[in-house]
Amino acid sequence: MTFRAPPPIPLSVPSLGGNESRYVQQCLETNWVSSAGPFVDRFEREFAARLGRAHAVATVNGTAALHVALLVAGVGPGDLVPTSDLTFIATANAIRYTGATPLLVDSDLETWQMDPTLLVEFLDRECERRPAGVVHRDSGRRVAALLPVHLLGQPARMAPLLERARDLGLPVIEDASESLGASCQGRPVGGLGDIACFSFNGNKLITCGGGGMIVTDREDWAGRARHLTTQAKLDPFENIHDEIGYNYRLTNVAAAIGTAQLERLDQLLSSKRRIAARYRAFCDASPGLTFMPSPAWAEPACWLSSILVDEETFGIDSRALARALKARAIESRALFQPMHLSPAHFGCRILGGTVAESLWRRGLSLPSSSDLAPDQQERVLEAIAGARA
Ligand SMILES: *Cc1c(COP(=O)(O)O)cnc(C)c1O
Repeated sequence: MTFRAPPPIPLSVPSLGGNESRYVQQCLETNWVSSAGPFVDRFEREFAARLGRAHAVATVNGTAALHVALLVAGVGPGDLVPTSDLTFIATANAIRYTGATPLLVDSDLETWQMDPTLLVEFLDRECERRPAGVVHRDSGRRVAALLPVHLLGQPARMAPLLERARDLGLPVIEDASESLGASCQGRPVGGLGDIACFSFNGNKLITCGGGGMIVTDREDWAGRARHLTTQAKLDPFENIHDEIGYNYRLTNVAAAIGTAQLERLDQLLSSKRRIAARYRAFCDASPGLTFMPSPAWAEPACWLSSILVDEETFGIDSRALARALKARAIESRALFQPMHLSPAHFGCRILGGTVAESLWRRGLSLPSSSDLAPDQQERVLEAIAGARA
């Protein structure tokens, strides 16, 4: 008898069982394969409608969406942009691309997202309104925009941020890359601030292969985003460009995949939520394991089901649990290294930081593909239970 290794269970892979191939085929048959075409227009239109926003501009990826959203919101060299310490590095990188500097804000335990009290305190105590805008007194730097992130499918606590931003006239940019489908008191994430960004990378809730989207209600901002993502081209016949732009447009082939994915968003969301509910029930019955928080005011998208492992109670730490899962061909992943610890963003100021660091050290994301079958999920749970020391 030969031992057969169990098939691997990946962290998160796309689910492409709808109209994806039919729409891609249409691109090939009509010769519309590049960075314009009917699927780009349709994807933008249907995405904006889904979010309840007036405009959507598709981009080549989520990082490009963030870069352009920052530029459109007026962020430039020397500015300070408060953002989450615990985030995927693209958020902080995009701030740096504009010449601005991230001001890193710790997480709170209620959401794992940016702690708004820390940021409001910073704005109240250390900044003042001047003709140039909101200025950080000690450094003389302008606070140009706020960039909260909705990480892992979980909405950030936006109400206090939105209120203070409105008082101070600061634009709010949401990084909703990981949280399409989540909402805050019935309002969709990505529809709360002045402008928001999404990613359609391969492991996100819906994918284009690679892609991104900017959404906003402001027509002037949408127009400027479109301009900047198309090399700032003013006159397509004479080839005149009025400033330094970017080649950031999404291709029609990618948009075709995205359009088909968007049709299945509710189905994908309900799979993600069913998977999360099973993990949550398991964690609630397992001392030493804590599932992601679910505040009463938030409806999470449950993009990546993630847990905290308490070494003392569970017996082993998160990294040892990850190794035990790997030995059973089950993929897991740590949360993101907080930006204040990242070599890439070394030296950026951090407000707090201990919560994000502790979440990173204790956290683990578990297999969460929308097509994860119940028996596969059982295998994950058995492996976790079996790893307990
Ligand atoms: C994925 C992601 C991005 C960037 O998206 P890409 O499409 O990979 O460029 C930005 N921010 C967060 C929080 C993300 O998870």
